[in-house]
Amino acid sequence: MIQMLWPSTIISMNPATGETLAEVPIGTPEDIHQAVARAWAAFPAWAERRYAERGRLILAARQYILDRLEEIVEVTYTETGKPRTEALSSDVMAVLDLMTYYAKYTEKLLRSERIWLGKYSIMGRSSYVNYKPLGVIGIISPWNFPFAIPMGEVVMALMIGNTVVLKPSEYTPLVGLKIGEIFQAVGLPEGVLNVVPGDGTTGAALAEAKVKKIFFTGSVATGRKVMMAAAKNLTPVVLELGGKDPMIVCRDADVDVAASAAVWGAFANAGQICASIERCYVDQAIADEFITKVVEKTQRLRQGPPERVDTDIGSLSTERQLQVVEEQVGDAIVRGATVLCGGDRNRELGGYYFQPTVLTDVDHSFSIMREETFGPVLPLMTFKTEEEAIRLANDSPYGLTASVWTTDIARGKRMAAQLQAGTIMINECTYTHALPQTPWGGVKQSGVGRTHSKWGLMELVELEHVHVNRMARTKDPWWYGYSRQLYEVLVDFSRTFTSPSWVDQLKAIPAVLRGQRLKKY
Ligand code: NDP
Repeated sequence: MIQMLWPSTIISMNPATGETLAEVPIGTPEDIHQAVARAWAAFPAWAERRYAERGRLILAARQYILDRLEEIVEVTYTETGKPRTEALSSDVMAVLDLMTYYAKYTEKLLRSERIWLGKYSIMGRSSYVNYKPLGVIGIISPWNFPFAIPMGEVVMALMIGNTVVLKPSEYTPLVGLKIGEIFQAVGLPEGVLNVVPGDGTTGAALAEAKVKKIFFTGSVATGRKVMMAAAKNLTPVVLELGGKDPMIVCRDADVDVAASAAVWGAFANAGQICASIERCYVDQAIADEFITKVVEKTQRLRQGPPERVDTDIGSLSTERQLQVVEEQVGDAIVRGATVLCGGDRNRELGGYYFQPTVLTDVDHSFSIMREETFGPVLPLMTFKTEEEAIRLANDSPYGLTASVWTTDIARGKRMAAQLQAGTIMINECTYTHALPQTPWGGVKQSGVGRTHSKWGLMELVELEHVHVNRMARTKDPWWYGYSRQLYEVLVDFSRTFTSPSWVDQLKAIPAVLRGQRLKKY
């Protein structure tokens, strides 16, 4: 009898109803090994193709998604419990735009670049860098944007000429498989993209596999494990981790706009966005008006079945997440927080629904102000001065995004300069992951490295430096043939050539000429 040490399948389910959607085999370490081997075998031919050819395939995949928009939106909301409108706007629409951008601009963004060599160019030297595909990229992705996050990284990797092994979250295997299906349907060559659904063990096997880079998006705890596993092969990692993103509302903000932003930024995707507004600090002078508006707007949100186009807020995606939210809100209430609305599960709806919740009378000793909640909860505090707001916002181990709300843009920029986050928004929140042109990533425990934009592309390339010496018939003075004369030339050189002053540098010319005349082996 074969004894299973762990279950061999994962159950995909609809978190809004508890209905089982499918049973999917868990990728084993051997499956990962084979997928990585297939990706390496496919790499040389894929890397050889021209950008324009790869771009055509990406745009064909984009058209395929558009042709099956409703089907892809449906699998996304069914596996996550998010509202249909959000499955369309933040998962699918964001990706369509990203595909157009990278199909059109990757070649331009990765053009060879000349390096300015200054005085070395007088000596006939020039340098440039080329950006080349790295090889096989391992992508490990979460469930909160099961289409947008892995798809964006897959598109960037493929456009450059890399091949990919993707391990989607165990909670959203069907969306992960859909990504593979899309590219297969448009004729992506065998082995270029390999989707291996599975659980943590599958991810762990990928982190240890012989790939050239790991792109991981998920929690800090798992990110740490991935970094340690990847270190065994010296595989570099990009880690996109959690956040506890602060919103600062200044006294000169448009109160109505800021209140709408707070409600959307905190509750969109049921708060399960790494860049959700997780803490709000409002100037005492406008706090009453702002908080009243936030509560009114929250009470207008329609929580309901994901498939309805007028549902504002769906269910949480996992039972584990529901427990975290319940624990943090429960702890805040025990410690004296005031619940202005929500505060509990939405028991009328079944599934993993938690009511959108607004809390006051909290402080930084509460877990709700320190740990990532990843749920529909907005805790609010007031501040008296700009300095106090910045100190509170920065008082966190995380630093993914932060936002400042003010009609005085100069004030916004002044405060932005003091905030510790990978992205700081003035009069905006949460959405810039959807801008393919801008870098995405965190500081402090929110991550390592960047995705999206040309800086994200840089994480996916091998940087090759080419150095040219046009003086093909001369030997360098510092080559063998060491002597007293050479030593004196080098002393001269140290004083002149390395000087910050141009005048001193010109004085190096005689030493250069003397150096050239020295006998070399
Ligand atoms: P997890 O860290 O639990 O999981 C992320 C991925 O890692 C999943 O595919 C998971 O597989 C896999 N995994 C689990 N264990 C291991 C392991 N030992 N080695 C390798 N991979 C493993 O995160 P969640 O899926 O719960 O996602 C939520 C978190 O993601 C939040 O903290 C959120 O802030 C963060 N996030 C960050 C973003 C950013 O851009 N900074 C964007 C989106 C989310 P499985 O699911 O099968 O267990």
